[in-house]
Amino acid sequence: MTSSNVTINGVVDECRSAGIACAPTGTHLMNAPVDLPAGLGLEIGAEAACDIAIIGSGFAGLGMGIRLKQSGEEDFLIFEKADAVGGTWRDNHYPGCACDVQSHLYSFSFAPNPDWSRMFSAQPEIRAYMEHCTDRFGLRPHLRLGHELRQATWDAPAGCWRLRMADGRRVRARVLVSGMGGLSRPAIPDIPGLDTFAGAMFHSQQWRHDYRLAGQRVAVIGTGASAIQFVPQIAPVVDHLDLYQRTPPWIMPKPDRPISAPERWMFRHLPFTQKLVRTGLYWMLESRVLGFVKHPGLMKAVEGIARRHLVRQVPDPALRATLTPDYTIGCKRVLISNDYYPALSRPNVEVVTTGIDHVEADAIVMRDGTRREADCIILGTGFHATDPLPRGVIVGRDGLDLLDAWRDGAQAYLGTTVAGFPNLFLIVGPNTGLGHSSMVLMIESQVNYVLDALRHMRRERLQAVDVRPPVQAAFNRGIQQKLGHAIWSEGGCASWYIDPRSGKNTTLWPGFTWQFRRATQHFRLADYERWPVRHPAEAPQPAEAPQPEAAGAVSA
Ligand SMILES: Cc1cc2nc3c(=O)[nH]c(=O)nc-3n(C[C@H](O)[C@H](O)[C@H](O)COP(=O)(O)OP(=O)(O)OC[C@H]3O[C@@H](n4cnc5c(N)ncnc54)[C@H](O)[C@@H]3O)c2cc1C
Repeated sequence: MTSSNVTINGVVDECRSAGIACAPTGTHLMNAPVDLPAGLGLEIGAEAACDIAIIGSGFAGLGMGIRLKQSGEEDFLIFEKADAVGGTWRDNHYPGCACDVQSHLYSFSFAPNPDWSRMFSAQPEIRAYMEHCTDRFGLRPHLRLGHELRQATWDAPAGCWRLRMADGRRVRARVLVSGMGGLSRPAIPDIPGLDTFAGAMFHSQQWRHDYRLAGQRVAVIGTGASAIQFVPQIAPVVDHLDLYQRTPPWIMPKPDRPISAPERWMFRHLPFTQKLVRTGLYWMLESRVLGFVKHPGLMKAVEGIARRHLVRQVPDPALRATLTPDYTIGCKRVLISNDYYPALSRPNVEVVTTGIDHVEADAIVMRDGTRREADCIILGTGFHATDPLPRGVIVGRDGLDLLDAWRDGAQAYLGTTVAGFPNLFLIVGPNTGLGHSSMVLMIESQVNYVLDALRHMRRERLQAVDVRPPVQAAFNRGIQQKLGHAIWSEGGCASWYIDPRSGKNTTLWPGFTWQFRRATQHFRLADYERWPVRHPAEAPQPAEAPQPEAAGAVSA
């Protein structure tokens, strides 16, 4: 089958709207015909093609796909290594798993769900919402499940990304959008002997629902956002629970409640009421930035609320002392829960702070020599947030590996583009994380930025854009300057927000989400080196990589 209109399971293999496509190796032709097996497209051995390749199907990948569709773009594929969409909300299914930002805000602005059953919905409901959005916006034909990206390499002569999947399938795409997620790789603690434990052991993200916790002695390591959700669920079931705490989190009351049937009726039939609720929540959460970034002193008032919550819920002064953090609230992620402290006051639960020395086949041995027997270890130890992707996954211009580009810590321009990696857009890239509100807000801003970039590229007939290094450097200087005075730097704690290699906060956005939205509203061509689409007759020879245009040669 040879045609310039080859379909890949219904997806047309060319960028029809722009007349731009990356050329097959060595040909350097626009809209060059591609040989694909009829109806399959991504068979091993063949190289399939699409204009835009999106990696991941969490909120980032789905949001990007939906907005592309809405803008009339059809020539994109979403590659997902798992067998279903949902990202975080597919992978985390531990008991009690729920969002900690109100569902009316932790959802797409363009797809309000009037049927949320609670203010903070549980994982099954969020996952169902994402499946629903996939169907509602017609993403299924674009989805390639079971496709794990192993390597993406920028092919300069052809002006496109060449992707290799784990099973050997190959794809080329002019634009690569990474929605691979910042919190998807479980962090396994480096405790001597952990691998010699003979009982059941699993990370909260890999919850073993087949394992009967009833009547068992369970050790939970970690007291982060996941642990505070599952500990209250399992504590009443197990025989005994040891909670190994290194640093206690600050915990605020959770303003959760069921959403009543009349409220849901109102949201369905009078949609503006749900918009009002969303807007109210938005500004309530935005106000937290004042304490986090602008005036850390304000956090003292917030700390007062958390202290009163602790006093109300933990009558035992010794336990209370154990659970009282020694750093300013906000320095680590502020958690919300109404049932964590009561669970720790149960007679079958013990909070252990001595520090783990090593693990043996049937016990955890403390630094003071005491042995605490366990049938099961659950790791509530979070994720690799600041660890870069392994070497060889993303390779840009001149063979530059993203790992090397980020050897002093991850950085990008507007958290989205990285110098040396043309046409690569990272959703939830460096310094786009939030300590105060919904990540979906940041994701939507970045998606808008990518859409505007694509519009500019189409209008100016550009094959590729690459952020100018000085632009990226200046942006990051500004970010780090702001972060230097934020609570995360001055609050007296060590947190996963900080990259251990550089000591820099490479995860959080130091401001209001509307500031990020404003910064990403318009794609500024002047910030980028760019390569024009060339007529076939002007195509460079295979060895010749397209050179950046002289500044100003392409109108910005
Ligand atoms: C338990 C938990 C609770 C959270 N609660 C909240 C909350 O309440 N509010 C909030 O704002 N944020 C919350 N977060 C943060 C959350 O990660 C983001 O809100 C958001 O879900 C991130 O979406 P994403 O699409 O960027 O990443 P993910 O949801 O992690 O999706 C990434 C996807 O990429 C796929 N992928 C990764 N590598 C590859 C590859 N090589 N090839 C193909 N596919 C690949 C993964 O399989 C996954 O499907 C929570 C995180 C966790 C872990």
